[in-house]
Amino acid sequence: MPNNALFYLTSNDMPLVSHADGIYIWDTTGRRYIDGCSGAITCNIGHNHPTVKRAMVEQLDKVAFSYRTQFESQVALDLANKMVDLTDADLQKVFFVGSGSEAVESAIKLAIQYFVAEGQPERSKFVSLRPSYHGSTMGALGLTGYEPLEAPYRSITIGSVKVPSPDLYRYREASVEEHIAAVLRQTEIAILAAGAETIAAIVLEPVGGASTGGRMVTRTYMEGMRALCDRYGCLLIMDEVLSGMGRTGAWFAYQHYGVAPDILALAKGLGSGYYPIAAMMAGKELVDAVGRSGGFMHGHTYAGNPLACATGLAVIDVMSSEKLVSNAAEQGAYLRRQLEQLAEKYDCIGNVRGIGLLQGVELVQDKVSKQPFPAAFNAFDRLTALAKGRGLLIYPRRCLNGLEGDHVLITPPLTVTASDIDDIIALFDGSLADFEQVAR
Ligand code: PLP
Repeated sequence: MPNNALFYLTSNDMPLVSHADGIYIWDTTGRRYIDGCSGAITCNIGHNHPTVKRAMVEQLDKVAFSYRTQFESQVALDLANKMVDLTDADLQKVFFVGSGSEAVESAIKLAIQYFVAEGQPERSKFVSLRPSYHGSTMGALGLTGYEPLEAPYRSITIGSVKVPSPDLYRYREASVEEHIAAVLRQTEIAILAAGAETIAAIVLEPVGGASTGGRMVTRTYMEGMRALCDRYGCLLIMDEVLSGMGRTGAWFAYQHYGVAPDILALAKGLGSGYYPIAAMMAGKELVDAVGRSGGFMHGHTYAGNPLACATGLAVIDVMSSEKLVSNAAEQGAYLRRQLEQLAEKYDCIGNVRGIGLLQGVELVQDKVSKQPFPAAFNAFDRLTALAKGRGLLIYPRRCLNGLEGDHVLITPPLTVTASDIDDIIALFDGSLADFEQVAR
């Protein structure tokens, strides 16, 4: 017997998980960690929630799985209707899948099929940002703007027209307004160069997650991207796999900018880690056009299965009854103030950004020049390991283009209290002090 048959186990000193409750997770040696990043920014309602567990068991007692071409399920209908009620946009149709990548994949395919149905089959290209992350399946990976992930598959992914993502920390223009205008100009030039009549959609994350460490854009940028879509007749797809479902202090991050997408991809917080469930939401006109042309040629076995939908419904009920969206806004603002104080204290923090309980910290070697740490220093890994050593989980991301710093995300469950945030900040403070010792 091999003693380690797990393909993806990357480190031999990885602790074995034992159990979890609320914002805490324990390993099998009895060590407790604060889950300061909700796993992979997923466990929005915290661990071990009795309401969700009960709903899942109740559903299991009825039926765990039924197939959507044989039965409709009431929980799937209820969840879809509830999600439509949460949006204030023209997104009246919900297509369930099992992961964020599948949600993005579905959005790609819906856009393609829509334009085929509309008699514009030449619209088959996508515009996406660099850096960005849209998932690991071939279509979603093709949109992703993150070199190490893209490179091995470049010859076989669908690819996309990559345009720069706004960077409100490192921009070179004289003001944010000029930077946004420049980025929009570059995007338009790229669309025209690719052939505007061949573009199916622009795809973007309204607030960056792992890809950009919580980078925000501006309302003007969003309005500009919407205007480009309208001018050139393509769709606007927003990837809110990470930022959606309340994480940013609004049900959906697009709401902060007042600009809505034509297609929305959701995942992580929808099932909150209790069961894999993700969704694509789209306008009725889009879906009807595809329906008239023979239906959506896409789907997965587990799509919309009763157990997944019962989980999603219970998660939304908890989010609503415990007012977790407004808690994310309130505690997120508190977390942000605390992180900004740490940024004043530590030279290695170049930038704090994000919104709600999606906060990113960019690490730099020199605060004035914004010089990143050398890639070989592995700043993202070191800080994350130091925090873990103190009992705090944070989410790391290496920046490999040499132009930006590594970053970490602080994204605790949306159930956090101010006192939980004080605990997180105390541990992060200590980890930064340790980090500065090795970095200087
Ligand atoms: N899109 C974004 C913005 C993400 O952050 C992620 C995952 O981190 C994905 C898509 C892919 O989701 P999944 O890992 O569930 O396939």
